[in-house]
Amino acid sequence: MGDKLNFEQSAKVIAENSRFVAGGVNSNFRLGMQPGPLVFERGEGAYLFDVDGNRLIDYYCGMGAMVLGHNPAGVRQAVKEQVDRGILFAGQAPVEFEAARIICERIPSAERIRFGSSGSEVAQAAVRLARAVTGRRKIVKFEGHYHGWFDNILWSTAPALNAGGPEDAPVPVGGSKGQDPSEAEGLSILGWNDLASVEARLAKGDVAAVLMEAAMCNQGAISPAPGYLEGVQAACRKHGALLIFDEVITGFRLGRGGAQERFGVTPDISIFAKAIANGFPVAAIVGRADLIDLFATGGVLHGGTFNAQPVAMAAMIGTQNALTPEHYERSSVYGVRLRDGISDILKEAGIKAQVTGFELMFHVAFGLDEPARNYRDMARSDKKGYSLFSLALLQRGVRVLERGAWFVSSEHNDDVVDQTLEAVRSAAREVAPQ
Ligand code: PMP
Repeated sequence: MGDKLNFEQSAKVIAENSRFVAGGVNSNFRLGMQPGPLVFERGEGAYLFDVDGNRLIDYYCGMGAMVLGHNPAGVRQAVKEQVDRGILFAGQAPVEFEAARIICERIPSAERIRFGSSGSEVAQAAVRLARAVTGRRKIVKFEGHYHGWFDNILWSTAPALNAGGPEDAPVPVGGSKGQDPSEAEGLSILGWNDLASVEARLAKGDVAAVLMEAAMCNQGAISPAPGYLEGVQAACRKHGALLIFDEVITGFRLGRGGAQERFGVTPDISIFAKAIANGFPVAAIVGRADLIDLFATGGVLHGGTFNAQPVAMAAMIGTQNALTPEHYERSSVYGVRLRDGISDILKEAGIKAQVTGFELMFHVAFGLDEPARNYRDMARSDKKGYSLFSLALLQRGVRVLERGAWFVSSEHNDDVVDQTLEAVRSAAREVAPQ
């Protein structure tokens, strides 16, 4: 690997434009990354091209959205055709029904669907629906699981790694100043992957729903323990609570039918966003017909000017058309080669690390002796060490999230994996204990 890349021009553009845009970014999750927020001119396949003229192999993949890589031809074409037909009708369009049919065919729990624009928003719809159906207030939410940035749900979640209370009796920790503290009363926070605590909590009989990432992907990439999802589902049924899967990351990434198909557990309600439309603002709430129909007939409000936005719907159809079984087979081979290659290289370099997760989304945690099972385990990982490693990778042309997640697309082919592993080898040498 030659000279390290520099990012001076990005820093300059961010500094200049912080006069207009707070912090030079439009999402707080784009702040605070090393060496600073970057500015991109173009994306193509596995690569992003920044204003410094750097070509970066991108493993952010739009925070998980770009499951087909940057700017795939099929999605571009679908968007162009829809733009020519019209942009927003405040009425129905054939594209949204075609999009709905595809999702209902692909997702096991999807008897009915409603579209929205962001994961945060459809998480709200899910919580409201569960409360309306059960007449109860409490939502069980797990430490480290993220379901959007709204006041009522942004508790005990990344990036605030300060877990509250003892491990077997967590207390809610807010994620932002200005958050309404009374919203915490609507939640019951538990540690994930511990069935006994869910059973005990549900037995009190006041829980509207259990909401979870079916595989925990906002802190680590952690599978549910064997029998955990089934056990939670049985406890929900026994005690009259609904089971909600947040598949905003796992959807179309752990497989075409999401985590629910992969793990064989069908929730009452689930939500999707990110990879559903490869970078266009589409989200969905799906589930049992009798539940989702309450948006139409049960007095449960769900609205949005941009819901089922026709251009985004066309992008979604273009994306779903490309998400064939062959897509998953091919990309999985690259993903596994990359994941196992990283694990081997770190071991050889004498860096203690756990590489865990799936084919198209995995996680690298430094400093752990065992794979993490939950948020508290992740909180014990060496964040600082990994952050230095991620910076060393960026300087070698590989862009990875500082929190350890790697998102793989179908464009991360053998050649890209080879280049990545070479950078990993060099970065590992730089940060390895001497
Ligand atoms: N749920 C999960 C599991 C997520 O990872 C995210 C986004 N990181 C959200 C919900 C919120 O989605 P959005 O950013 O589209 O509002």
